Amino acid sequence: MAVAARTDLAFQQCIAPACGATFSVDEVLTSCPLCGNLLDVTYDWDRLPAPNSFELFERKWMRRSDPLALSGVWRFHELLPFAPRESVVTIGEGQTLLSVSDGVGRYIGMNPGQLHLQYEGLNPSGSFKDNGMSAAFSHARMIGATRAACASTGNTSASLAVYCAVTRLMRGIIFIGSGKISYGKLSQALDYGALTIQIAGDFDDAMARVKEVAGKTNIYLVNSVNPFRLEGQKTIMYRVLESLGWEVPDWIVVPGGNLGNSSSFGKAFAELRHLGLIDRIPRLAVINAAGANTLYELFHNRGLRWNGGQADLAPVCHYYDELDRGEKRADTLASAIEINRPVNLNKCLRALEVCDGVVREVTEQEILDAKAQVGAGGLGCEPASAASVAGARKLVNEGVIGRDDRVVCILTGHQLKDPNATVAYHTTDQELFNEVLGSRGVSRASFANRAVTVGNRIDDIIQAIDLYS
Ligand SMILES: *Cc1c(COP(=O)(O)O)cnc(C)c1O
Ligand SMILES: [Zn+2]
Repeated sequence: MAVAARTDLAFQQCIAPACGATFSVDEVLTSCPLCGNLLDVTYDWDRLPAPNSFELFERKWMRRSDPLALSGVWRFHELLPFAPRESVVTIGEGQTLLSVSDGVGRYIGMNPGQLHLQYEGLNPSGSFKDNGMSAAFSHARMIGATRAACASTGNTSASLAVYCAVTRLMRGIIFIGSGKISYGKLSQALDYGALTIQIAGDFDDAMARVKEVAGKTNIYLVNSVNPFRLEGQKTIMYRVLESLGWEVPDWIVVPGGNLGNSSSFGKAFAELRHLGLIDRIPRLAVINAAGANTLYELFHNRGLRWNGGQADLAPVCHYYDELDRGEKRADTLASAIEINRPVNLNKCLRALEVCDGVVREVTEQEILDAKAQVGAGGLGCEPASAASVAGARKLVNEGVIGRDDRVVCILTGHQLKDPNATVAYHTTDQELFNEVLGSRGVSRASFANRAVTVGNRIDDIIQAIDLYS
Protein backbone atom coordinates (compact mmCIF):
# COMPACT_ATOMS: atom_id res chain seq x y z
CA MET A 1 0.00 0.00 0.00
CA ALA A 2 1.52 3.34 -1.06
CA VAL A 3 1.08 5.81 1.73
CA ALA A 4 1.09 9.42 0.65
CA ALA A 5 4.51 10.99 0.37
CA ARG A 6 5.21 14.22 2.21
CA THR A 7 5.58 15.94 -1.11
CA ASP A 8 2.14 14.97 -2.42
CA LEU A 9 -0.14 17.94 -2.94
CA ALA A 10 -3.20 15.72 -3.22
CA PHE A 11 -3.72 12.46 -1.41
CA GLN A 12 -6.42 10.17 -0.09
CA GLN A 13 -7.16 10.34 3.59
CA CYS A 14 -9.31 8.35 6.00
CA ILE A 15 -12.14 10.54 7.31
CA ALA A 16 -11.93 9.11 10.85
CA PRO A 17 -9.88 11.67 12.81
CA ALA A 18 -8.59 8.92 15.10
CA CYS A 19 -7.08 7.16 12.06
CA GLY A 20 -6.43 9.83 9.44
CA ALA A 21 -4.22 7.49 7.41
CA THR A 22 -3.12 8.91 4.07
CA PHE A 23 -2.64 7.16 0.75
CA SER A 24 -1.38 8.20 -2.64
CA VAL A 25 -3.89 9.27 -5.30
CA ASP A 26 -2.36 6.52 -7.44
CA GLU A 27 -4.07 3.91 -5.27
CA VAL A 28 -7.53 2.59 -6.10
CA LEU A 29 -9.35 2.43 -2.77
CA THR A 30 -12.95 2.65 -1.71
CA SER A 31 -12.34 2.52 2.02
CA CYS A 32 -9.46 2.92 4.46
CA PRO A 33 -7.38 -0.29 4.42
CA LEU A 34 -6.55 0.27 8.10
CA CYS A 35 -9.92 0.97 9.70
CA GLY A 36 -12.52 0.53 6.96
CA ASN A 37 -13.87 4.08 7.07
CA LEU A 38 -14.51 6.22 4.01
CA LEU A 39 -11.77 8.18 2.27
CA ASP A 40 -11.53 11.81 1.25
CA VAL A 41 -9.40 13.36 -1.42
CA THR A 42 -7.40 15.90 0.61
CA TYR A 43 -5.22 18.75 -0.61
CA ASP A 44 -2.22 20.49 0.82
CA TRP A 45 -3.73 23.91 0.10
CA ASP A 46 -0.81 25.79 1.63
CA ARG A 47 1.52 24.48 -1.04
CA LEU A 48 -0.92 24.54 -3.93
CA PRO A 49 -1.55 27.64 -6.04
CA ALA A 50 -4.99 27.87 -4.44
CA PRO A 51 -7.29 30.54 -5.82
CA ASN A 52 -7.77 33.58 -3.63
CA SER A 53 -10.77 34.95 -5.51
CA PHE A 54 -13.57 33.64 -7.70
CA GLU A 55 -12.46 35.88 -10.53
CA LEU A 56 -10.11 33.20 -11.78
CA PHE A 57 -13.11 31.07 -12.72
CA GLU A 58 -14.94 33.91 -14.43
CA ARG A 59 -11.93 34.55 -16.64
CA LYS A 60 -12.35 31.05 -18.06
CA TRP A 61 -15.67 32.05 -19.60
CA MET A 62 -13.62 33.77 -22.31
CA ARG A 63 -11.86 30.54 -23.24
CA ARG A 64 -14.74 28.29 -24.09
CA SER A 65 -12.87 26.61 -26.96
CA ASP A 66 -10.75 24.94 -24.25
CA PRO A 67 -12.73 21.85 -23.16
CA LEU A 68 -11.55 22.24 -19.56
CA ALA A 69 -12.78 25.82 -19.42
CA LEU A 70 -16.08 24.85 -21.02
CA SER A 71 -16.79 22.01 -18.59
CA GLY A 72 -18.85 23.06 -15.58
CA VAL A 73 -16.68 20.70 -13.55
CA TRP A 74 -13.16 21.44 -14.83
CA ARG A 75 -13.60 25.17 -15.01
CA PHE A 76 -13.02 24.74 -11.25
CA HIS A 77 -9.98 22.49 -11.65
CA GLU A 78 -8.02 24.55 -9.05
CA LEU A 79 -10.59 23.43 -6.44
CA LEU A 80 -10.21 19.72 -7.28
CA PRO A 81 -6.54 19.56 -8.23
CA PHE A 82 -5.93 15.81 -8.01
CA ALA A 83 -5.44 15.14 -11.74
CA PRO A 84 -2.93 16.66 -14.12
CA ARG A 85 -4.54 18.50 -16.99
CA GLU A 86 -3.64 15.81 -19.52
CA SER A 87 -5.54 13.14 -17.54
CA VAL A 88 -8.76 15.10 -17.29
CA VAL A 89 -11.78 13.48 -18.95
CA THR A 90 -14.64 15.73 -19.97
CA ILE A 91 -17.62 15.28 -22.27
CA GLY A 92 -19.01 18.75 -21.59
CA GLU A 93 -20.75 18.04 -18.29
CA GLY A 94 -21.99 20.73 -15.93
CA GLN A 95 -23.70 23.08 -18.40
CA THR A 96 -26.49 23.53 -15.91
CA LEU A 97 -28.92 26.24 -14.93
CA LEU A 98 -29.91 27.97 -11.72
CA SER A 99 -33.22 29.74 -12.05
CA VAL A 100 -35.67 31.51 -9.80
CA SER A 101 -39.02 29.76 -9.76
CA ASP A 102 -41.77 31.88 -8.27
CA GLY A 103 -44.44 29.33 -9.17
CA VAL A 104 -42.75 26.56 -7.22
CA GLY A 105 -41.78 29.13 -4.58
CA ARG A 106 -45.43 30.05 -4.06
CA TYR A 107 -46.31 26.36 -3.80
CA ILE A 108 -43.85 25.83 -0.98
CA GLY A 109 -44.86 29.05 0.78
CA MET A 110 -41.96 31.34 -0.05
CA ASN A 111 -41.94 34.97 -1.06
CA PRO A 112 -41.15 35.85 -4.70
CA GLY A 113 -37.55 35.84 -5.88
CA GLN A 114 -36.25 33.53 -3.17
CA LEU A 115 -36.64 29.95 -4.41
CA HIS A 116 -34.00 28.78 -6.87
CA LEU A 117 -33.90 25.49 -8.72
CA GLN A 118 -30.51 24.09 -9.71
CA TYR A 119 -31.31 21.99 -12.76
CA GLU A 120 -28.81 19.15 -13.04
CA GLY A 121 -31.03 17.36 -15.56
CA LEU A 122 -29.15 19.30 -18.26
CA ASN A 123 -26.07 17.09 -17.94
CA PRO A 124 -25.12 14.82 -20.88
CA SER A 125 -26.78 11.75 -19.36
CA GLY A 126 -29.58 13.76 -17.75
CA SER A 127 -28.54 13.70 -14.10
CA PHE A 128 -26.01 15.26 -11.73
CA LYS A 129 -24.06 11.97 -11.75
CA ASP A 130 -22.00 13.21 -14.72
CA ASN A 131 -20.24 15.76 -12.47
CA GLY A 132 -18.79 12.93 -10.45
CA MET A 133 -18.29 10.56 -13.36
CA SER A 134 -15.97 12.97 -15.18
CA ALA A 135 -13.84 13.15 -12.02
CA ALA A 136 -13.84 9.37 -11.51
CA PHE A 137 -12.91 8.84 -15.17
CA SER A 138 -10.06 11.31 -14.83
CA HIS A 139 -8.74 9.33 -11.89
CA ALA A 140 -9.25 6.04 -13.73
CA ARG A 141 -7.28 7.43 -16.63
CA MET A 142 -4.44 8.48 -14.28
CA ILE A 143 -4.10 4.96 -13.00
CA GLY A 144 -4.74 3.23 -16.32
CA ALA A 145 -7.94 1.30 -15.55
CA THR A 146 -9.55 -0.51 -18.46
CA ARG A 147 -12.85 -1.69 -16.94
CA ALA A 148 -15.26 0.19 -14.67
CA ALA A 149 -18.33 -0.97 -12.81
CA CYS A 150 -21.10 0.38 -10.62
CA ALA A 151 -24.25 -0.73 -8.86
CA SER A 152 -27.04 1.58 -9.78
CA THR A 153 -30.63 2.56 -9.29
CA GLY A 154 -30.20 3.84 -12.86
CA ASN A 155 -28.49 7.18 -13.17
CA THR A 156 -24.98 6.14 -12.20
CA SER A 157 -25.15 3.40 -14.82
CA ALA A 158 -26.46 5.80 -17.48
CA SER A 159 -23.60 8.13 -16.66
CA LEU A 160 -20.95 5.41 -16.63
CA ALA A 161 -22.28 4.12 -19.93
CA VAL A 162 -22.18 7.47 -21.69
CA TYR A 163 -18.63 8.22 -20.51
CA CYS A 164 -17.51 4.81 -21.77
CA ALA A 165 -19.25 5.26 -25.09
CA VAL A 166 -17.89 8.76 -25.73
CA THR A 167 -14.34 8.30 -24.46
CA ARG A 168 -13.70 4.60 -25.24
CA LEU A 169 -11.33 4.63 -22.24
CA MET A 170 -12.94 1.73 -20.40
CA ARG A 171 -15.50 -1.03 -20.76
CA GLY A 172 -18.53 -0.24 -18.57
CA ILE A 173 -20.23 -2.90 -16.45
CA ILE A 174 -23.40 -2.09 -14.56
CA PHE A 175 -25.06 -4.03 -11.76
CA ILE A 176 -28.78 -3.51 -11.32
CA GLY A 177 -31.38 -5.07 -9.05
CA SER A 178 -34.35 -6.88 -10.52
CA GLY A 179 -37.26 -4.73 -11.61
CA LYS A 180 -36.11 -1.60 -9.79
CA ILE A 181 -34.84 0.54 -12.60
CA SER A 182 -36.88 2.95 -14.67
CA TYR A 183 -36.93 2.35 -18.40
CA GLY A 184 -35.61 5.81 -19.14
CA LYS A 185 -32.39 4.98 -17.32
CA LEU A 186 -32.08 1.33 -18.36
CA SER A 187 -32.56 2.32 -21.98
CA GLN A 188 -29.56 4.64 -21.74
CA ALA A 189 -27.22 1.97 -20.37
CA LEU A 190 -28.33 -0.51 -23.04
CA ASP A 191 -28.20 2.01 -25.87
CA TYR A 192 -24.71 3.20 -24.91
CA GLY A 193 -23.51 -0.39 -24.95
CA ALA A 194 -22.66 -1.09 -21.30
CA LEU A 195 -22.48 -4.69 -20.12
CA THR A 196 -25.55 -5.03 -17.90
CA ILE A 197 -25.67 -7.54 -15.06
CA GLN A 198 -29.07 -7.93 -13.48
CA ILE A 199 -28.95 -9.42 -9.99
CA ALA A 200 -31.83 -11.09 -8.19
CA GLY A 201 -32.04 -8.57 -5.36
CA ASP A 202 -32.38 -4.84 -4.73
CA PHE A 203 -29.94 -1.94 -4.94
CA ASP A 204 -28.39 -2.66 -1.57
CA ASP A 205 -27.65 -6.24 -2.74
CA ALA A 206 -26.20 -5.05 -6.05
CA MET A 207 -24.01 -2.56 -4.18
CA ALA A 208 -22.63 -5.24 -1.86
CA ARG A 209 -21.85 -7.51 -4.84
CA VAL A 210 -20.16 -4.93 -7.02
CA LYS A 211 -17.89 -3.99 -4.11
CA GLU A 212 -16.93 -7.65 -3.76
CA VAL A 213 -16.26 -7.95 -7.47
CA ALA A 214 -14.11 -4.80 -7.47
CA GLY A 215 -12.19 -6.21 -4.50
CA LYS A 216 -11.44 -9.47 -6.33
CA THR A 217 -10.61 -8.03 -9.75
CA ASN A 218 -8.98 -4.92 -11.16
CA ILE A 219 -12.35 -3.46 -12.14
CA TYR A 220 -12.56 0.24 -11.23
CA LEU A 221 -15.57 1.07 -9.02
CA VAL A 222 -17.39 4.31 -9.86
CA ASN A 223 -20.03 4.30 -7.13
CA SER A 224 -19.92 7.24 -4.77
CA VAL A 225 -17.73 5.33 -2.28
CA ASN A 226 -15.11 6.37 -4.82
CA PRO A 227 -13.78 9.57 -3.24
CA PHE A 228 -12.82 11.06 -6.61
CA ARG A 229 -16.41 11.06 -7.75
CA LEU A 230 -17.41 13.33 -4.91
CA GLU A 231 -14.72 15.81 -5.94
CA GLY A 232 -16.61 16.33 -9.20
CA GLN A 233 -19.90 16.76 -7.40
CA LYS A 234 -18.51 19.63 -5.34
CA THR A 235 -18.72 21.73 -8.48
CA ILE A 236 -22.53 21.74 -8.32
CA MET A 237 -22.13 24.09 -5.38
CA TYR A 238 -19.51 26.18 -7.17
CA ARG A 239 -21.95 26.71 -10.03
CA VAL A 240 -24.73 27.61 -7.61
CA LEU A 241 -22.50 30.28 -6.05
CA GLU A 242 -21.38 31.44 -9.47
CA SER A 243 -25.00 31.89 -10.57
CA LEU A 244 -25.74 33.87 -7.41
CA GLY A 245 -22.87 36.28 -8.10
CA TRP A 246 -20.74 34.36 -5.54
CA GLU A 247 -23.21 35.11 -2.77
CA VAL A 248 -23.88 32.29 -0.33
CA PRO A 249 -27.56 31.23 -0.16
CA ASP A 250 -29.26 30.47 3.16
CA TRP A 251 -30.26 26.92 2.32
CA ILE A 252 -29.27 24.07 0.02
CA VAL A 253 -31.96 21.38 -0.19
CA VAL A 254 -31.04 18.04 -1.73
CA PRO A 255 -32.59 14.56 -1.92
CA GLY A 256 -30.64 11.92 -0.03
CA GLY A 257 -29.99 8.44 -1.45
CA ASN A 258 -26.44 7.16 -1.06
CA LEU A 259 -25.66 10.61 0.39
CA GLY A 260 -22.82 11.38 -2.01
CA ASN A 261 -24.17 14.77 -3.03
CA SER A 262 -24.84 15.99 0.48
CA SER A 263 -21.37 14.78 1.51
CA SER A 264 -19.64 16.53 -1.35
CA PHE A 265 -21.55 19.77 -0.75
CA GLY A 266 -20.36 19.86 2.85
CA LYS A 267 -16.78 19.28 1.72
CA ALA A 268 -17.06 21.97 -0.94
CA PHE A 269 -18.18 24.59 1.56
CA ALA A 270 -15.67 23.61 4.24
CA GLU A 271 -12.86 23.98 1.68
CA LEU A 272 -14.13 27.29 0.31
CA ARG A 273 -14.23 28.66 3.83
CA HIS A 274 -10.76 27.32 4.55
CA LEU A 275 -9.50 29.10 1.44
CA GLY A 276 -11.19 32.32 2.52
CA LEU A 277 -13.39 32.40 -0.59
CA ILE A 278 -16.59 32.46 1.50
CA ASP A 279 -17.12 33.60 5.07
CA ARG A 280 -20.37 31.83 5.75
CA ILE A 281 -21.70 28.33 5.02
CA PRO A 282 -25.30 27.73 3.93
CA ARG A 283 -27.50 25.37 5.89
CA LEU A 284 -28.10 21.97 4.35
CA ALA A 285 -31.39 20.07 4.26
CA VAL A 286 -31.22 16.43 3.19
CA ILE A 287 -34.54 14.90 2.20
CA ASN A 288 -35.31 11.18 2.36
CA ALA A 289 -38.31 9.42 0.90
CA ALA A 290 -40.36 7.99 3.75
CA GLY A 291 -39.93 4.53 2.21
CA ALA A 292 -36.13 4.75 2.36
CA ASN A 293 -35.49 6.91 5.39
CA THR A 294 -32.37 5.61 7.10
CA LEU A 295 -30.76 9.02 7.49
CA TYR A 296 -33.97 10.55 8.79
CA GLU A 297 -34.42 7.73 11.26
CA LEU A 298 -30.84 7.84 12.53
CA PHE A 299 -30.18 11.59 12.49
CA HIS A 300 -33.57 13.09 13.19
CA ASN A 301 -35.21 10.45 15.36
CA ARG A 302 -32.28 8.76 17.06
CA GLY A 303 -29.91 11.68 17.43
CA LEU A 304 -26.96 10.18 15.54
CA ARG A 305 -24.29 12.88 15.04
CA TRP A 306 -20.81 13.12 13.50
CA ASN A 307 -19.65 14.67 16.72
CA GLY A 308 -16.32 15.86 15.39
CA GLY A 309 -15.58 12.37 14.11
CA GLN A 310 -16.32 10.70 17.45
CA ALA A 311 -19.72 9.41 16.28
CA ASP A 312 -20.99 6.43 18.22
CA LEU A 313 -21.90 4.14 15.34
CA ALA A 314 -23.62 1.48 17.44
CA PRO A 315 -27.09 2.86 16.57
CA VAL A 316 -26.29 2.33 12.88
CA CYS A 317 -25.57 -1.39 13.28
CA HIS A 318 -28.55 -1.69 15.53
CA TYR A 319 -30.80 -0.03 12.96
CA TYR A 320 -29.51 -2.23 10.11
CA ASP A 321 -30.16 -5.29 12.26
CA GLU A 322 -33.69 -4.07 12.76
CA LEU A 323 -34.14 -3.71 9.01
CA ASP A 324 -32.80 -7.23 8.46
CA ARG A 325 -34.94 -8.80 11.16
CA GLY A 326 -38.07 -7.06 9.84
CA GLU A 327 -37.03 -7.95 6.26
CA LYS A 328 -37.58 -4.29 5.51
CA ARG A 329 -36.60 -3.24 2.01
CA ALA A 330 -36.35 0.30 0.71
CA ASP A 331 -39.55 1.11 -1.12
CA THR A 332 -40.35 4.33 -2.94
CA LEU A 333 -41.38 5.54 -6.38
CA ALA A 334 -38.40 7.86 -6.15
CA SER A 335 -36.21 5.00 -7.34
CA ALA A 336 -32.99 7.05 -7.39
CA ILE A 337 -33.16 7.34 -3.60
CA GLU A 338 -34.60 3.90 -2.91
CA ILE A 339 -31.64 2.97 -0.69
CA ASN A 340 -31.65 1.75 2.90
CA ARG A 341 -27.91 1.47 3.51
CA PRO A 342 -26.43 4.74 2.27
CA VAL A 343 -22.75 4.18 1.64
CA ASN A 344 -21.75 7.75 2.47
CA LEU A 345 -23.61 7.93 5.77
CA ASN A 346 -20.57 9.00 7.81
CA LYS A 347 -19.52 11.68 5.37
CA CYS A 348 -23.06 12.99 5.28
CA LEU A 349 -23.12 13.23 9.08
CA ARG A 350 -19.97 15.32 8.82
CA ALA A 351 -21.57 17.56 6.18
CA LEU A 352 -24.64 18.02 8.38
CA GLU A 353 -22.32 19.20 11.15
CA VAL A 354 -20.37 21.57 8.89
CA CYS A 355 -23.59 23.01 7.44
CA ASP A 356 -25.76 23.01 10.58
CA GLY A 357 -28.03 20.68 8.64
CA VAL A 358 -31.46 19.14 9.07
CA VAL A 359 -33.03 15.96 7.68
CA ARG A 360 -36.65 15.38 6.75
CA GLU A 361 -38.67 12.62 5.11
CA VAL A 362 -41.47 13.12 2.58
CA THR A 363 -44.28 10.84 1.43
CA GLU A 364 -44.90 9.55 -2.09
CA GLN A 365 -47.89 11.90 -2.32
CA GLU A 366 -45.77 14.90 -1.37
CA ILE A 367 -43.06 13.91 -3.86
CA LEU A 368 -45.45 13.52 -6.79
CA ASP A 369 -47.36 16.71 -6.08
CA ALA A 370 -44.08 18.62 -5.81
CA LYS A 371 -42.91 17.01 -9.05
CA ALA A 372 -46.06 18.20 -10.84
CA GLN A 373 -45.41 21.74 -9.57
CA VAL A 374 -41.82 21.63 -10.79
CA GLY A 375 -43.04 20.43 -14.20
CA ALA A 376 -45.69 23.14 -14.39
CA GLY A 377 -42.91 25.63 -13.68
CA GLY A 378 -41.06 24.45 -16.76
CA LEU A 379 -38.15 22.41 -15.41
CA GLY A 380 -39.28 18.81 -15.37
CA CYS A 381 -37.61 16.43 -12.98
CA GLU A 382 -37.79 12.81 -11.91
CA PRO A 383 -39.53 11.81 -8.66
CA ALA A 384 -36.37 11.63 -6.50
CA SER A 385 -35.45 15.18 -7.45
CA ALA A 386 -38.84 16.50 -6.40
CA ALA A 387 -38.17 15.25 -2.88
CA SER A 388 -36.02 18.37 -2.44
CA VAL A 389 -38.97 20.64 -3.24
CA ALA A 390 -41.36 18.60 -1.09
CA GLY A 391 -38.84 18.75 1.75
CA ALA A 392 -38.37 22.50 1.38
CA ARG A 393 -42.14 22.91 1.57
CA LYS A 394 -42.21 20.97 4.79
CA LEU A 395 -39.43 23.08 6.27
CA VAL A 396 -41.14 26.34 5.29
CA ASN A 397 -44.32 25.05 6.91
CA GLU A 398 -42.43 24.27 10.09
CA GLY A 399 -40.86 27.73 10.06
CA VAL A 400 -37.36 26.24 9.85
CA ILE A 401 -36.86 27.83 6.42
CA GLY A 402 -38.00 31.47 6.43
CA ARG A 403 -40.23 32.80 3.64
CA ASP A 404 -37.54 35.32 2.73
CA ASP A 405 -34.58 32.98 2.97
CA ARG A 406 -32.66 32.39 -0.21
CA VAL A 407 -33.17 28.72 -0.96
CA VAL A 408 -31.66 26.45 -3.62
CA CYS A 409 -33.34 23.11 -4.30
CA ILE A 410 -31.25 20.68 -6.34
CA LEU A 411 -33.16 19.05 -9.19
CA THR A 412 -30.95 16.02 -9.53
CA GLY A 413 -32.37 14.32 -12.63
CA HIS A 414 -34.33 14.98 -15.80
CA GLN A 415 -38.09 14.55 -16.25
CA LEU A 416 -37.69 11.99 -19.05
CA LYS A 417 -35.83 9.58 -16.78
CA ASP A 418 -39.08 8.20 -15.43
CA PRO A 419 -42.04 9.00 -17.69
CA ASN A 420 -44.20 6.24 -16.18
CA ALA A 421 -44.69 8.07 -12.91
CA THR A 422 -45.53 11.28 -14.75
CA VAL A 423 -48.05 9.73 -17.10
CA ALA A 424 -49.70 7.77 -14.30
CA TYR A 425 -50.05 10.97 -12.28
CA HIS A 426 -51.76 12.91 -15.06
CA THR A 427 -53.81 10.04 -16.46
CA THR A 428 -57.57 9.76 -16.70
CA ASP A 429 -57.20 5.98 -16.57
CA GLN A 430 -58.02 5.07 -12.98
CA GLU A 431 -56.63 1.59 -13.44
CA LEU A 432 -53.23 2.90 -14.51
CA PHE A 433 -53.25 5.38 -11.64
CA ASN A 434 -54.01 2.64 -9.14
CA GLU A 435 -51.45 0.27 -10.54
CA VAL A 436 -48.53 2.70 -10.60
CA LEU A 437 -49.38 5.16 -7.82
CA GLY A 438 -52.41 4.03 -5.82
CA SER A 439 -50.62 0.82 -4.86
CA ARG A 440 -47.86 2.99 -3.36
CA GLY A 441 -50.16 5.03 -1.13
CA VAL A 442 -50.77 7.96 -3.48
CA SER A 443 -54.46 8.79 -3.16
CA ARG A 444 -54.86 11.80 -5.45
CA ALA A 445 -53.18 13.74 -8.21
CA SER A 446 -53.72 17.22 -6.85
CA PHE A 447 -52.18 18.98 -9.86
CA ALA A 448 -53.04 16.57 -12.66
CA ASN A 449 -53.19 17.99 -16.17
CA ARG A 450 -55.60 15.51 -17.70
CA ALA A 451 -56.02 14.82 -21.38
CA VAL A 452 -59.47 15.69 -22.73
CA THR A 453 -61.18 12.95 -24.72
CA VAL A 454 -63.36 13.91 -27.67
CA GLY A 455 -64.90 12.18 -30.65
CA ASN A 456 -63.25 12.47 -34.03
CA ARG A 457 -65.53 15.31 -35.18
CA ILE A 458 -64.31 18.81 -35.95
CA ASP A 459 -67.15 20.56 -34.09
CA ASP A 460 -66.55 18.51 -30.95
CA ILE A 461 -62.84 19.20 -31.11
CA ILE A 462 -63.27 22.96 -31.46
CA GLN A 463 -65.91 22.95 -28.75
CA ALA A 464 -63.56 21.11 -26.38
CA ILE A 465 -60.72 23.52 -27.11
CA ASP A 466 -62.99 26.52 -26.48
CA LEU A 467 -64.26 24.98 -23.29
CA TYR A 468 -60.86 24.25 -21.78
CA SER A 469 -58.62 27.03 -23.04
C1 LIG B 1 -28.23 9.34 -7.44
C2 LIG B 1 -29.42 10.22 -7.37
C3 LIG B 1 -29.88 10.76 -6.17
C4 LIG B 1 -29.25 10.42 -4.87
O1 LIG B 1 -28.05 11.11 -4.68
P1 LIG B 1 -27.01 10.63 -3.55
O2 LIG B 1 -25.82 11.44 -3.83
O3 LIG B 1 -26.79 9.17 -3.76
O4 LIG B 1 -27.66 10.92 -2.24
C5 LIG B 1 -30.95 11.62 -6.20
N1 LIG B 1 -31.58 11.93 -7.35
C6 LIG B 1 -31.17 11.43 -8.53
C7 LIG B 1 -31.91 11.79 -9.76
C8 LIG B 1 -30.09 10.57 -8.57
O5 LIG B 1 -29.71 10.05 -9.75
ZN1 LIG C 1 -8.73 4.70 8.65
